[in-house]
Amino acid sequence: MDLFEYQARDLFEKHGVPVLAGAVATTPEEAEAAARSMGGKVVVKAQVKVGGRGKAGGVKLAENADDAREKAAAILGMDIKGHIVGKVMIAQAAPIEEEYYLAILLDRSNRTFLVMASVAGGMDIEQVAHETPEKLVKVPVNSNDGISKADALKIINDAKFPADIADQVAEALVLLWGVFVSEDATLVEVNPLVKTSDGRIIALDGKVTLDDNAGFRHPDHEALVDASATNALEAAAKEKDLNYVKLDGEVGIIGNGAGLVMSTLDVVAYAGEKFGGVKPANFLDIGGGASAQIMADGLSIILGDKDVKSVFVNVFGGITACDAVANGIVQALEILGDKATKPIVVRLDGNNVLEGRRILNDAAHPLIQQLDTMDGAAARAAELAAN
Ligand code: GDP
Ligand code: MN
Repeated sequence: MDLFEYQARDLFEKHGVPVLAGAVATTPEEAEAAARSMGGKVVVKAQVKVGGRGKAGGVKLAENADDAREKAAAILGMDIKGHIVGKVMIAQAAPIEEEYYLAILLDRSNRTFLVMASVAGGMDIEQVAHETPEKLVKVPVNSNDGISKADALKIINDAKFPADIADQVAEALVLLWGVFVSEDATLVEVNPLVKTSDGRIIALDGKVTLDDNAGFRHPDHEALVDASATNALEAAAKEKDLNYVKLDGEVGIIGNGAGLVMSTLDVVAYAGEKFGGVKPANFLDIGGGASAQIMADGLSIILGDKDVKSVFVNVFGGITACDAVANGIVQALEILGDKATKPIVVRLDGNNVLEGRRILNDAAHPLIQQLDTMDGAAARAAELAAN
């Protein structure tokens, strides 16, 4: 889960990373009130989960509370790269002297954690990495050792931060590692980390990604979920512990195993080209145990999607054999009753496939069509969706 800047700011504050006062507002009046209670100049910042807000006009300095109300009125409702601004953060303004960059992330390709540090902060870090790679220092971090103050100082010196602030920046890096570990993050990025004219180091903009797989260790992270952005079907699927992602197409997909479901999406998209560009409507992996209840849960989520015109159930029997899956499908349709209204193409293969196919044939459910091959079933499902 990616966090909003204000949520990242709050986490930083909780772990002692130096930040400025900040408050969220959803109306110009709230923005004015927040600015008034802070006093002095403030910065009004669009809260959208996308970078480059500054360049897009989503970060504006306000001279006073009245100005903050006007700036907030201009920013609220703005479209930044397809994200509509519903909230702004009112942040105490900082007299910026220098802008730096610090990040800690999970480096999947090297199977380690990575610190990135640069004195060229404030701008697009991809651009720095591309044009002046010598200005971006990258140091792997061993998860058992973490980042000690001495490690941090070495990184900061290698990245050529000015000597007078090296100690403060190193301290901030150690605290950011604390955020990264104790919140189970996969990304903690500060851009810019600023030096103010009175020599303080402050995290002015934060980007944090939390690892959802560690969610069970963090009941407090539940409150960080942006309900307005969560798809209703995805929320319902999550409640049933289903691995579901809503997509834009018309063919509902159910399969067992993430790899099989991924290739099913490809095959359906390919087959759909012949039928006016029909596409998969979702990703849904029901995993190993395709019981009747799981199948019914999966089907009811997919049939609840008004965009779905046909369903493709693609199962390769393994430990859960095809006969169990076939019984699951038949019972699921009994559970669903007249809630099941769309044609369902089933392709079974693998362990005990003949018995599985026999069960479905004998059930002779009017909505079910069986095909023997994945390509054939994908083409039929696409065709049904197109008509
Ligand atoms: P981003 O464009 O989405 O990364 O948003 P940032 O929060 O990084 O803001 C963009 C730029 O606005 C920063 O690099 C700063 O130059 C400027 N900025 C943000 N906050 C302040 C502030 O408190 N005072 C001043 N003077 N500039 C600010
Ligand atoms: Mn930034």
